[in-house]
Amino acid sequence: MEPVHVIGAGLAGSEAAWQLATRGVPVVLHEMRPTRTTEAHQTDGCAELVCSNSFRSDDAAGNAVGVLHAELRRAGSLILSAADAHQVPAGGALAVDREGFSQAVTRALSEHPLIEIRREEITALPPAEWDQVIIATGPLTSPDLAAAVLERTGEDALAFFDAIAPIVHFDSIDMDQAWFQSRYDKVGPGGTGADYINCPLNEAQYNAFVDALLAGEKAPLRDFERKTPYFDGCLPIEVMAERGRETLRFGPMKPVGLTNPHAPGVKAHAVVQLRQDNKLGTLYNMVGFQTKLKHGDQVRVFRTIPGLERAEFARLGGLHRNTYLNSPRLLDETLRLKAEPRLRFAGQITGCEGYVESAAVGLMVGRFAAAERRGAAVVPPPPTTALGALLGHITGGHLEAEGEGPRSFQPMNINFGLFPPLAETPKGEGGKRLRGAEKTLAKKKALADRALSDVAVWLDTTATAA
Ligand code: FAD
Repeated sequence: MEPVHVIGAGLAGSEAAWQLATRGVPVVLHEMRPTRTTEAHQTDGCAELVCSNSFRSDDAAGNAVGVLHAELRRAGSLILSAADAHQVPAGGALAVDREGFSQAVTRALSEHPLIEIRREEITALPPAEWDQVIIATGPLTSPDLAAAVLERTGEDALAFFDAIAPIVHFDSIDMDQAWFQSRYDKVGPGGTGADYINCPLNEAQYNAFVDALLAGEKAPLRDFERKTPYFDGCLPIEVMAERGRETLRFGPMKPVGLTNPHAPGVKAHAVVQLRQDNKLGTLYNMVGFQTKLKHGDQVRVFRTIPGLERAEFARLGGLHRNTYLNSPRLLDETLRLKAEPRLRFAGQITGCEGYVESAAVGLMVGRFAAAERRGAAVVPPPPTTALGALLGHITGGHLEAEGEGPRSFQPMNINFGLFPPLAETPKGEGGKRLRGAEKTLAKKKALADRALSDVAVWLDTTATAA
């Protein structure tokens, strides 16, 4: 059997190689370290963790990433088994001894008879004779390969200094203060004229907000971050605020074209807009609010905005060099490049965010490629599972925003907002209607139960195929 070539032995590439090999498919795994390294990696180990040593919450009943852990364990993930074997105490989180973890992954891959590891940088699109390739070169893909992918995909931006805006769970927004309306009631393609959520600020609230932004603590830039330009004038909000007290009121917080139905006749001094972020309408992103404020300060400062006092954040803002594809446009449902289906992509380059998510995409892609190589049906996981929810985000769960610049698809961690809603709201004992925190907990538990039961069916039905 011809090998599948996997480029990059990070979280995604290591997992993909393992999934292929354990299904009897030979693999050539190309990793450029130590010949060449990235701005963040320190070792030549496979699956090196470049920053924190945490895989986040391990709670499979109340946390979406915990559900993803559970699904990965059931699917025979190398990354999760190495993490479990090298766990360090971290409360409810799964944190690991990073060296032991990376060494365990490297050893498992090196010792597998069907895996050959080649220490070399791939600097161009793979040769035509490699009929199946997985590109898993991560957010810091080396520049020559990034340029080749960019040329092949024809998209106008692949690597840039990425400023990401926070994303809020819709059901945590106070709609007694906020309201739905597009600016000037404009109806765009597929829109209704009421596509945005608007949060009004009076003059005193606006001034207090600007003061809080300016006083907020910024996360420091790393050396390599200083050398990369901002993407498309995508300036962090606190940098805009530094340019003058009125800058935000004439920029992302301009109050024009909007009428507050909760306060007829009262003109807002400034307005924060949130735009729907997924098809389900469960998540909204804060338009123009990309930021480098420390996470604690983001939560504190953004909760001063009327309507967001109790906001729950699915993702907070951040800033780093990132390389990822506009996947909803470029990749098919099993993450093949539509323009050249012999090339699959995996890991953060597809637009997921985080170690666990990158490994999860690697696992799916490894299974898809194995099924294809063995002539079996390629069956994606259902969208009700954490794996399927993540795949849905990458391949099209995101709404292309109306008139909002060239790229609106942004990397995201797994979260319950990516799961389709439950058919029925969970009830308490004796059919009692639940409220507040109890209701939220019950909903999460029901989403988690559904995911784990559906993933078991998917794993059973694909067991012989992949
Ligand atoms: P990687 O793990 O980066 O693996 C890609 C591999 O490809 C690397 O080994 C690289 O050497 C290799 N490679 C690149 N180009 C080539 C080439 N041309 N030829 C051959 N090999 C190549 N996520 C978290 O969950 N927690 C964090 O704390 C965290 N911190 C981060 C900090 C930084 C600075 C960055 C950039 C990202 C961080 N992330 C974090 C996000 C991300 O999830 C991780 O980067 C994750 O490692 C991505 O997995 P991956 O497999 O897609 O890429």
